[in-house]
Amino acid sequence: MAIKSVDDLIAEGVSGRGVLVRSDLNVPLDDDANITDPGRIIASVPTIKALVEAGAKVVVTAHLGRPKNGPEAKFSLAPVATALGEHLGRHVQLAGDVVGTDALARAEGLTDGDVLLLENIRFDPRETSKDDAERGALARQLAELVAAPDGSPGAFVSDGFGVVHRKQASVYDVATLLPSYAGKLVAAEVAVLQKLAGEGEAPYAVVLGGSKVSDKLGVITSLAAKADSIVIGGGMCFTFLAAQGYSVGNSLLEADMVDTCRQLLDDYADVLRLPVDIVVADKFSADATAQTVAAEAIPEGTMGLDIGPGSVERFAALLSNAKTIFWNGPMGVFEFPAFAAGTKGVAEAIAAATGKGAFSVVGGGDSAAAVRALGLPDDDFSHISTGGGASLEYLEGKALPGIQVLDK
Ligand code: ADP
Ligand code: MG
Repeated sequence: MAIKSVDDLIAEGVSGRGVLVRSDLNVPLDDDANITDPGRIIASVPTIKALVEAGAKVVVTAHLGRPKNGPEAKFSLAPVATALGEHLGRHVQLAGDVVGTDALARAEGLTDGDVLLLENIRFDPRETSKDDAERGALARQLAELVAAPDGSPGAFVSDGFGVVHRKQASVYDVATLLPSYAGKLVAAEVAVLQKLAGEGEAPYAVVLGGSKVSDKLGVITSLAAKADSIVIGGGMCFTFLAAQGYSVGNSLLEADMVDTCRQLLDDYADVLRLPVDIVVADKFSADATAQTVAAEAIPEGTMGLDIGPGSVERFAALLSNAKTIFWNGPMGVFEFPAFAAGTKGVAEAIAAATGKGAFSVVGGGDSAAAVRALGLPDDDFSHISTGGGASLEYLEGKALPGIQVLDK
């Protein structure tokens, strides 16, 4: 691997040079466009700041949400530009378009150390096109924004870890056109994942939750051989409980995955651990009536929305002596306070193990949001990953196009 870093770029000299940075600024917004978790913005600052301080003309590109048909006000990066400016301690201009006349005019007007944020890159449908030529055309326009007046090329810094598993114009294609470097966030994330994908100091515990088994199947299979224990909670545990022959009421169930889960339970009986009790509710709602029941006795007409206290205790005991921990996916519907205790209990157990010297990684957008929503400090964990899908694909052993393309 010969991936150059943004520090290499700065050492080469960037004063006055145009640098395109792909960041992951895909933060959650409430209905009034307030940012509810600025984690990804904060994580993007070190790379942008280093380039600003080195005198580069910085053009940042990022996406927000999944706009379907071109520009849509609710997916504008306007609130992100303001917040990025606050965290950076300097003004961040927002272009009115992606690679249109406003972006071009603003890019041309940049002076050393200025920062321009382009509008949501997904307002341009070519960003996510399956057609190489379409993505290539957008990538050329992005590259043009950072070219010097004499036509000499700018540089590209890939720092959007949450999107490096996507073959998209601003992630992959533009890196084929410009001298390209890994940003600080991408470099740090890859270093952490290399540690988890390698041997990892034993005991190695994996905690999986979240909504779907199908999302995490690959990682279960690839980590089952390495991990000493994989504990399973969240919505995905019910498909495993069903595979053991228990009825799960109205809980989340992926019927087409039951056979796969049964096979996994057979193959990795000594590794996979399921909840022993479940907090069930009469409806999917914050004000539902909660009741704790044994995992094998979920009453008809109820749905499991959290793991119970007995499960937390069992999982916490496994985690307490772990030396390597990877956690992806909340243990329950933590967004409803009545069903947040399982996630909180497991998070606290991971934090306690970290305090005793374990190397712990939280991966997954909702898991990271849960840690913050539950009021646990980021420092309680060794690393909180900004990219759920990307970290899962890496741990599954898949090649990440946005990383591979940097390796020249
Ligand atoms: P991450 O983003 O950390 O990878 P996921 O996206 O896989 O996690 O899953 C997060 C979601 O799973 C949360 O919104 C949470 O409410 C939901 N969830 C967890 N447990 C349950 C459950 N028992 N029933 C329904 N949804 C659940
Ligand atoms: Mg998620």
